[in-house]
This record gives sequence, C-alpha cells and structure tokens, in this order.
Amino acid sequence: MSSAPEAHMFEKIVIANRGEVALRILRACRELGIRTVAIHSEADRDLKHVRLADESVCIGPAASAASYLNIPAVISAAEVTDAEAIHPGYGFLSENADFAERVEECGFAFIGPRPETIRLMGDKVSAIDAMKAAGVPCVPGSGGPLGEDDQENLRIAREIGYPVIIKAAGGGGGRGMRVVHTEAHLLAAITLTRSEAAAAFGNGMVYMEKFLETPRHIEFQVLADQHGNAVHLGERECSMQRRHQKVLEEAPAPGITDEQRRRIGERCAEACRTLGYRGAGTFEFLYEKGEFYFIEMNTRIQVEHPVTEMITGVDLVKQQILIAAGQPLPFDQQAIALHGHAIECRINAEHPTTFMPSPGRIETFHAPGGPGVRVDTHIYSGYRVPAHYDSMIGKLITHGESRESALARMRTALGEIVIDGIVTNVPLHQELVNDAAFIAGGTNIHYLEKKLGIG
Ligand code: ADP
Repeated sequence: MSSAPEAHMFEKIVIANRGEVALRILRACRELGIRTVAIHSEADRDLKHVRLADESVCIGPAASAASYLNIPAVISAAEVTDAEAIHPGYGFLSENADFAERVEECGFAFIGPRPETIRLMGDKVSAIDAMKAAGVPCVPGSGGPLGEDDQENLRIAREIGYPVIIKAAGGGGGRGMRVVHTEAHLLAAITLTRSEAAAAFGNGMVYMEKFLETPRHIEFQVLADQHGNAVHLGERECSMQRRHQKVLEEAPAPGITDEQRRRIGERCAEACRTLGYRGAGTFEFLYEKGEFYFIEMNTRIQVEHPVTEMITGVDLVKQQILIAAGQPLPFDQQAIALHGHAIECRINAEHPTTFMPSPGRIETFHAPGGPGVRVDTHIYSGYRVPAHYDSMIGKLITHGESRESALARMRTALGEIVIDGIVTNVPLHQELVNDAAFIAGGTNIHYLEKKLGIG
C-alpha cells in the first residue's frame, strides 16, 4: 500500500453525478469551504445543484453513455476547471475501477476507494474470498468459480444442500442469478447462467451459494481513512425491496442486538484494515435465523446513507471528502453512538402500483418539515423531471427517539408533502408505514412483492 498523503484540503471538487446526490455533495463541499464544479448533460441544465455550483460544465447529450458515463468528458471537465478531486456519487461511474484509475493517473483525487479495491469487490468471487480471509461470515457456497466438471458441480450442490443459487461473478443490479431447487435442473441452470453472464457482463464465471429462502437484507456502513483507522457505523435494514430495488430503509435494523452489531460491525471494520480500504463503504448481508451472511460490498456512498447519518450524527459525505484529502478519522469506534431511529422513503416519479415512470413538469412542490424531518431532493416547483434517468426524485427521512416516533413523523411528513404535476409513489409509502407487518418490524426481502401480488 502506498503511504498516506499529507493531509490538506481540496479547493475545488467536480461533482460527477446528477439529482439529489449531486446536491448532497454540493452541500458537504459548501460546509467545508470547497468550491464546486457541476457537470451535467444537455437535459440537466435546470438541476438545482447546477444553479448553485460555483461553476458548471455541460459534458454531453442527455443519454448517460454520452455524458455521465463518458470518462474522457468527465476528466476533461476537471482539467478545464482546474479542480483537484472528483466525487462520483452513486451509480454512473462510482464503482468503475477503470474510471477511478484514470482519474488518479490524470493527477486528480478520486473520492472513493483505491481502484484495485473497487476491482477486487466488483468481482464477487474475489470479494467473497477476501471477506472469508478477513473473517467476515459468508453464505455457504462453492468457495470459488464453478468448473466444467458436471460430477464435481453436482457434488458441490449436494454438499451445500438444495435450494442453491447460481450467480455470475461479474453480475450486478440483481441480474445474472438463477435459483435451483432440485438436482435434475442443476447442470442446465449452470450452462444457462454462464452463457447469459458471458453475454451480459463479458465474464462467464459463475459460482454457487446456498439459496436462503426468507432472509432480511441488513448492511453495515464503514468509514476507513488512509492511516489504517476504520470504524463501523452500525447497520441499516433494507429488506423492503421490489425487483431488488430498495424502496424504504431504516436504521438500526429492528431486533438486532448490540452484541450482534458489535460482532459483525467489528469484523467489517477489521476487513477494511486488512484490505487497506479507503473511504465510505457498505457490507451487504443476508440475515436469516439469527445469522449474517455476506453477499457483496458496495464501494461508494449509498442512497440510504442518511438514515445512518441521522442516528450517528456523522456526515458521511463530508467524511468521504476529508478521507480523500488524507485526513485521519476524527473519531474512534468508542466515540460512535447510535441515537434513536431513522426511516427513509425513496420518492420516485412513478405510478404507486404499476411502477410506470412518470416524468414531466412538477407544477407545485411543498416539502414537509418539523422536528426530525429531512428532505434530500433536487426538485422544485416548475422543475421538469427528464425521462432519461432513474425515477428517484428525492428522499424523505425522519428521525425520532424511538422507531415509533420516527414512524409517526414519517406518517405526518408523507401527509404533508405535495408534488403536483407528476405521479409519485408517495401513496405506496403511505400504505407501507401503516402496514401491520412493517410496523411490527423485521419483514423479509420478499414481503413487499408478496404484498403487491407479484411475489
Ligand atoms: P447484485 O450485485 O446483483 O445486487 P447480490 O449478490 O447483492 O447481487 O444479490 C442481489 C439479491 O439477490 C439479494 O439482495 C437477494 O435478494 C438475492 N440473493 C443473492 N444471493 C442470495 C442467496 N444466496 N440466497 C437468497 N437470495 C439471494
């Protein structure tokens, strides 16, 4: 590992993203006294952070491939504005190891992990290997890529026990997976997943895991600096999902004990020290019958990071920037305490039951408010939601001293929010926060699809 850089502070940062996360990064920069460069596509001239940034550069047409995913265009924007660092946000280029490498080769700081760490975690087989070596509990599985020997693959599956899941090493976004319930279907499933993975991800490597039937999705947030310090900031419950997309998140996860949190959180922090991890990261686990099973690591800030910020008081985006600038973490594990409970509803421009996207002009927007209410959004009255990008238009977060009070505040806030002109999923959230099983806490990852009648 290269030695840690001398700590300094950036004067100017390029925000290589759009929407609410771009605004979130801009706010963190403002607080740190850092000037900002907004880069945007032709469809995004009216984004709120573009108007607020010190400088802005249009880097290409609406299509993401020609703008937000266009590596030379993003790096050129940093060059022409004489910026020092690039924050990738989430999605787009945030977990692209080649991008991170190019950013650093061109002399800029990448606000995220080292490129080799991103690469290691981007390949699920190597990620699981690294986690096992660091003592993080993983799903029982093949312990490496599956070979061509049919008898051997049948033996591995028998040993793991059916049902099993065949997963692409290079997969992502919930694609490249196939569940197998009986031996008769195993070999065909391996062949099919392999060829699909080769076509979709350019990598036909597949592996096998025990298929957990009713798990919850629980993830741990970590921060690691360039001086060998790493802490965890507790966990988030993200089981409320539709098509592997998270809809509503909360922290802490209902029913998780301090002892479980300490045990798994410390393993994650230790894995960061072993890997020489840099920045913010998330260890994703499936949780079933009291056990945690690692599935993957996200090497970026996540959409749901605010719930952790609300219960820890730590500004994760500011910490990302300070870490990239070479500063040591200003706290140790002992100093991290969890206060109360936080819930986040992702507000999408989509129909609440058909999920059809609903781009268009927002005629009126009124944000909810009051104690413990946070609204992270780039929308405003008169803003036109473009059809080219993700449908998420904001996040409504509430915090309270207990889960009940966070929930009560969320019900009030959802009742107050006004977004006229387009259709949103606010009614879905209103139903969820009044749902008996959700109120009880601890529903599994299939709950929402079953409730919607698509499970
Ligand atoms: P991706 O990178 O595509 O998101 P993940 O490995 O995170 O892939 O898995 C995505 C989702 O697939 C999980 O959140 C879970 O719902 C399901 N899944 C993955 N592995 C298993 C498993 N071993 N058992 C049960 N469900 C699984």
